[in-house]
Amino acid sequence: MTTSPITNWAGNITYAAKELHRPHSQDALRALVADSEKVRVLGSGHSFNTLADSEGMLVSLSGLPPVIDVDTAARTVRVAGGVRYAELARRVHEHGLALHNMASLPHISVAGSVATGTHGSGLANGSLASAVREVELVTADGSLTVIGRDDPRFDGAVTSLGALGVVTALTLDLVPHFEVAQHVHLGLPLADLDFETVAGLAYSVSLFTDWRAPRFTQVWLKRRTDRPVPAFPRAPAATEPVHPVPGMPAVNCTEQLGTPGPWHERLPHFRAEFMPSSGAELQSEYLLPRPYAMEALRALDGIRERIAPVLRVCEVRTVAADAQWLSPAYGRDSVAFHFTWIEDAAAVLPVVRLVEAALAPFDPRPHWGKVFAVPLADLRERYPLAAAFSALVAEVDPAGTFTNAFLGDFLQPLS
Ligand SMILES: Cc1cc2nc3c(=O)[nH]c(=O)nc-3n(C[C@H](O)[C@H](O)[C@H](O)COP(=O)(O)OP(=O)(O)OC[C@H]3O[C@@H](n4cnc5c(N)ncnc54)[C@H](O)[C@@H]3O)c2cc1C
Repeated sequence: MTTSPITNWAGNITYAAKELHRPHSQDALRALVADSEKVRVLGSGHSFNTLADSEGMLVSLSGLPPVIDVDTAARTVRVAGGVRYAELARRVHEHGLALHNMASLPHISVAGSVATGTHGSGLANGSLASAVREVELVTADGSLTVIGRDDPRFDGAVTSLGALGVVTALTLDLVPHFEVAQHVHLGLPLADLDFETVAGLAYSVSLFTDWRAPRFTQVWLKRRTDRPVPAFPRAPAATEPVHPVPGMPAVNCTEQLGTPGPWHERLPHFRAEFMPSSGAELQSEYLLPRPYAMEALRALDGIRERIAPVLRVCEVRTVAADAQWLSPAYGRDSVAFHFTWIEDAAAVLPVVRLVEAALAPFDPRPHWGKVFAVPLADLRERYPLAAAFSALVAEVDPAGTFTNAFLGDFLQPLS
């Protein structure tokens, strides 16, 4: 057991929980949960807010066996709740299979990522949660519940913010192995952007800007090698590897310059063995319906003089609609506006509010694991099935063992 202070990856949050338990067996975990009045799971701690916190104890699954069972015939993998994408991807690759997509970094835990609706990019690529076909949960009384796709609770049970119980394992769909070549283009003026065309140039596309001018500093095209090379005359190709965050070393990033490689060594921007992003930072992200992309970009351009001084980099991606009730991409093909800020919360928060005001006409849903200012109670209106989720929590965790202050503000009071 670790005692306080317990902090997140970025160090901007010191959790109120004073104890972090690391059980070494499933039985020990179940006994610990059954004996707890308040408990929540801490995954790899990459969220930037108090979502993971608990008024009681935190539990880490990193001491449990890191089970990764690939079923090549069924094209599925069963993965333990503490495993990170880096380990999972390596094992899946060894079996000649692939995940449909990855986030910008492989350092994050699978269970923690799907719990918040974490995503990569690609017009046709759903969030990482869209690959999940079964969830295994230890609920408040220490018993095990399995919820599969044919269960009516399933669409509330994957992107569930840790509110239902401890996810001890997930079964994910796999796809046949594919190779990806990563091409970076530099200096695309906003005025020249046809968003739908550029976002569709490759399997996964990310546009980066520092908002110091109305242009994208870098456009990353992650092309499947079994698909044509995209023509992109509007912005010249980079001639050496780059890092999306100004001043950071390109060696931290996955291979570029069009060199083909396996999916898991190209879909993330950052290599597993190096620090992702810039380290000293805060992050925010908003998902809105994709047809608003250009209007929303113009709204952000209108406040870029306020954004730029506190920004390390802004990234624009796309996420296909999914069915998870609390997924920020629920029911709508989305464009995602991500901001990597400097680590000075006092300077950043007023700008976060300004960004939220600029994006407000476009019905934005903030990323659950990042910094946002909109009151949690106001988010209920942005999720058509928020009430169904509250009812699911009341059914699965009636005593609120897995609820914390963050969730308490979001969950709809049941009449
Ligand atoms: C450098 C960096 C880059 C990032 N890039 C991306 C990106 O490309 N795309 C994107 O969408 N997001 C991105 N994120 C955000 C990140 O993916 C999410 O915050 C994600 O939830 C982190 O997973 P975690 O395991 O660290 O979760 P934690 O922060 O540890 O926990 C998040 C939530 O999951 C719950 N949880 C974790 N494990 C379990 C479990 N086993 N059972 C039940 N509940 C559990 C926790 O209780 C908490 O509610 C990035 C973050 C960082 C720091």
